[in-house]
Amino acid sequence: MICDLSTVLNNDGAELEISGIMPLEKDACGADICFANGVSVNGRIVCRGDVLELGAHVEGAFEVGCARCLKPLKREISFDFEETLVQEGEEVTDKDSVIVFAGMELDLTEIVVSNILLNLSYKYLCSEDCKGLCPKCGADLNEGDCGCEQGEIDPRWEKLKNFK
Ligand SMILES: [Zn+2]
Ligand SMILES: [Zn+2]
Repeated sequence: MICDLSTVLNNDGAELEISGIMPLEKDACGADICFANGVSVNGRIVCRGDVLELGAHVEGAFEVGCARCLKPLKREISFDFEETLVQEGEEVTDKDSVIVFAGMELDLTEIVVSNILLNLSYKYLCSEDCKGLCPKCGADLNEGDCGCEQGEIDPRWEKLKNFK
């Protein structure tokens, strides 16, 4: 989603509406998270003196695997974010809190993706008491006991166990 900033840049008080569906690359938000229909982005960019203030609402549905049993889950995300945009070459007191852009066109994709990543959970579970997969044979333990001895764990699966 490309924004043409020419009408708002150096035009104090001017506003630019942002509204549309932003398609996201398959792995944009992580290999196991898929926004097949992209996200909707609605907001505005407002010129405030030397900077542009970007504020937007983001909504979208995605598919993610349960962190324990890998079953595909449908989840939704919905949040607001704000960013301060500064044109390259302007004096900036705190570089870490602003986004520097060059030229008249701003691609919102990277900004929206980094805010999606901030708003995603560390992990998603099909249910709080998901039993996960058998560390030995890989069977889904939610569907019943696979019959494996669960006492000692194959060292190859040790990492997965700690990952829970
Ligand atoms: Zn699960
Ligand atoms: Zn098993």
